[in-house]
Amino acid sequence: MSRFSGQAALVTGAARGIGLEIAAAFAAEGASVAVADLSLQDSAAAASGIAAKTGAKTLGLALDVSKEADCQKAVEETVKAFGKVDILVNNAGITKDNLVLRMKEADFDAVMNVNLKGAFLMSKAVSGLMLKARSGRIVNISSVVGQSGQAGQANYSASKAGLIGLTKSLAREFAPRGVLVNAVAPGFIRTRMTEGLKEEARAKISELIPLGRMGEPGDVAKAALFLAGGESAYITGQVLSVNGGLYM
Ligand code: NAP
Repeated sequence: MSRFSGQAALVTGAARGIGLEIAAAFAAEGASVAVADLSLQDSAAAASGIAAKTGAKTLGLALDVSKEADCQKAVEETVKAFGKVDILVNNAGITKDNLVLRMKEADFDAVMNVNLKGAFLMSKAVSGLMLKARSGRIVNISSVVGQSGQAGQANYSASKAGLIGLTKSLAREFAPRGVLVNAVAPGFIRTRMTEGLKEEARAKISELIPLGRMGEPGDVAKAALFLAGGESAYITGQVLSVNGGLYM
């Protein structure tokens, strides 16, 4: 029997990048997986790709995590397909970088709405089910810049620091009912989000990383699976840094 056999996972922002890797890793370990993303076309394609590779049951869903009705519908559809939601991974995230002097209010709000409010809305949407079941795992994908701060990313780092506060508050609120909530704080990971970096910037970043390289989506997926699995049954309200030592 695989590690997540009989369990159902819902991963947001799962059509590409880190979310896709997490969704595929759960499926490879036996879970049924709902792949939720902005575009139904993209999430359905990712879901069928994962099913073809792993043989797992998958479901592609369209949702905008900043909209409460979308979040509730995604949870309802997952329950309709798989009967329950054991694991929620709040992975959907965006950047709209700029120096504070030039940052538009709309760009601050957009990043907070997706990265922080989206995780709140999704957690709220699964909370009734998980609290009733007296079990469940929520894994929030934060960021190293939520821990360290970053020039040019005031909105993004505030949203990711807020996500750590949300993680700890949910962990305290849900612990009495056996629902565990933790965060992963990735460093620089090779995805579309970082592919815009110039080669020179990439080389500079790698020099700052004690392990000497950027991370891969699989490095983050392994941490998310650990925090959703049986090995972490006595861990809640924690932030697991997956950053090659960039921030300690
Ligand atoms: P990515 O390749 O840009 O993927 C993000 C996914 O989220 C995309 O599929 C995107 O859909 C989806 N998304 C965006 N807004 C959404 C919304 N409102 N509702 C639902 N889905 C939405 O990014 P990534 O690098 O894999 O990042 C995944 C997570 O890791 C993010 O939370 C990010 O902040 C975090 N993270 C990344 C790094 C890194 O170095 N890459 C480091 C630390 C933390 P579309 O493609 O349709 O826009």
